Amino acid sequence: MKTAIYPGSFDPVHNGHIDVLKRALKIFDKIIVAVGEHEDKKYLFSGKERKRMFREAAKGLNVEVENFDRMLVDFAKKKKAKAIVRGLRAVSDFDYEFQAALMNRKLGDIETVFIMTRGKYSYLSSSVVKEVASRGGKVKDLVPEHVEKALKGKFGV
Ligand code: ADP
Repeated sequence: MKTAIYPGSFDPVHNGHIDVLKRALKIFDKIIVAVGEHEDKKYLFSGKERKRMFREAAKGLNVEVENFDRMLVDFAKKKKAKAIVRGLRAVSDFDYEFQAALMNRKLGDIETVFIMTRGKYSYLSSSVVKEVASRGGKVKDLVPEHVEKALKGKFGV
């Protein structure tokens, strides 16, 4: 059984995240989604809300969704994960991801597997989704329906 960890903020989960998840499930038997809760980050949705929304979005897939606020490598070890999965959109993602992957290998002897975004999602990020939703724009094709509803609830638009 090959398990991988897919960490991120997922604030909120969008269609690009789910696409990466589904493609990672072609390589791994099970994915544990680690929804980060870090003191120095400001989130729109609480850890619980982000977890609940991801769970709903990943219904029917062999996925476990958990919050985590520890070192990723410790979490991965506890879960007996073989690898970390990260998505890559553009060159701008690369610097940070390269450094994090090398550090995680040094600290936890764990490999990072990168999954390239699909062209149609290359512009998509949680920040863009929040910006559009906050101004009353349409996010219907960018996020699952329940996330669209949650965004409307947050911004009241
Ligand atoms: P983080 O704060 O850890 O970057 P995100 O929720 O923004 O958390 O992203 C989680 C993971 O999903 C990251 O590996 C990120 O590169 C990837 N990701 C985000 N948006 C996309 C997208 N449109 N296509 C592919 N991967 C994506």
